[in-house]
Amino acid sequence: MNNPYNNAKMQLKTVAKTLNLETHLFNQLLKPQKFHQTTLKIKLDNGKIKAFPAFRSQHNNSRGPYKGGIRYHPQVSIDEVKALSIWMSVKCATVGIPFGGAKGGIIVDPKALSQSELERLSRAYIHWLTPHLGSWIDVPAPDVNTNAQIMAWMLDEYEKTVGHQEPGVLTGKPVAIGGSLGREEATGLGGSFILTRLAKKLNLKPKTTTIAIQGFGNVGYWFAYFADKLGFKVVAASDSQGGIYVPEGLNPKLTLECKQDKGKIAGCYCVGSVCDLKKGKTITNADLLELNVDIIVPAALENVITKDNAQKIKAKAIIEMANGPVTPEADTILNQRGILSAPDVLSNAGGVTVSYFEWVQNNQGYYWEKAEVFKKLEVIIDQAFTAAWNVSLKQKVNLRTGAYLVAVDRIAAAMRLRGGNR
Ligand code: GLU
Repeated sequence: MNNPYNNAKMQLKTVAKTLNLETHLFNQLLKPQKFHQTTLKIKLDNGKIKAFPAFRSQHNNSRGPYKGGIRYHPQVSIDEVKALSIWMSVKCATVGIPFGGAKGGIIVDPKALSQSELERLSRAYIHWLTPHLGSWIDVPAPDVNTNAQIMAWMLDEYEKTVGHQEPGVLTGKPVAIGGSLGREEATGLGGSFILTRLAKKLNLKPKTTTIAIQGFGNVGYWFAYFADKLGFKVVAASDSQGGIYVPEGLNPKLTLECKQDKGKIAGCYCVGSVCDLKKGKTITNADLLELNVDIIVPAALENVITKDNAQKIKAKAIIEMANGPVTPEADTILNQRGILSAPDVLSNAGGVTVSYFEWVQNNQGYYWEKAEVFKKLEVIIDQAFTAAWNVSLKQKVNLRTGAYLVAVDRIAAAMRLRGGNR
């Protein structure tokens, strides 16, 4: 079994040697500074009480307040949350925004809860965590299966508990209560900035470049939307129940509408000319990754490209929009096969970067136009891509290791300046 925490530790180990990282700093980075855990008990609509294990891992705050999303999923585990918090520290440092890393999670199938049960669970989670949160302590955000509405309930609960307004304590909020314009699209848009730069390096022309996207939630959809707008050909998309392959190219907007209508992507294709989606066929999530396309984009969960399927990948490049989709063993195989993987800490960093913009706007009480948000995002992603790319060339390592070298060097520098024992 692939343990994401072991994977994250292995990734740190890979760069510690090159950076000559002091043992005491390396050992600190291997585990979260703080780990909170509890069992939340919620009254269901039928009057029964149900218990949900819940966690928050605060990995490192040398570069700024802890930052990272909250995930609702039946497969959430302590080790997953710890790994995700390490990846957040690395991600914030890769793009150079002044945050540390954290991640939270609840073991729950949110699709099995009613809206009011979901609200009670979200409020209970944040109520429990309130003493450990604050706009200068730890700033949560959405992650898998959480969204702006959940952030709104959480902000409301937090502010009621502390007795003052503090919009900067959470990001990914609805715009009406202090969210940033462009936060919703940010992760996908950031990924599309990586796509253009990667395509240039690989000499791929948008028009003839085919893309398959695994996962069609907020991240996968907006990635598809911007890729399509840039002229790339999105030929496959999937959700947790399977997907579609449309060789002529699919329309992201129509696909989303169809998914919302049918409840899943798998039914969204038609043979013939009566409907808008062109001729296609249904495929599994495993098939999607092995399609004969130029770029695959895992945009759902971790550990989907492993040593078992890395040999079967036909794409020239991977853009990791999920966190941790490629295991270290798979990474080695992909390297040997010359398949370039743009790492998660770079590819999906658009989300946390606009979270940073949201936090800045909240703290100054002054809000920006969407165009400004997008422009500033491109500057940050461009700088991060260039830095990671150049280091990877200089050190003769892959792009992931390049990004990690940049990031861990920045974190270690902050730790040293603070005395080295944070
Ligand atoms: N959950 C997102 C991520 O993994 C966003 C985190 C944030 O905005 O703090 O990057």
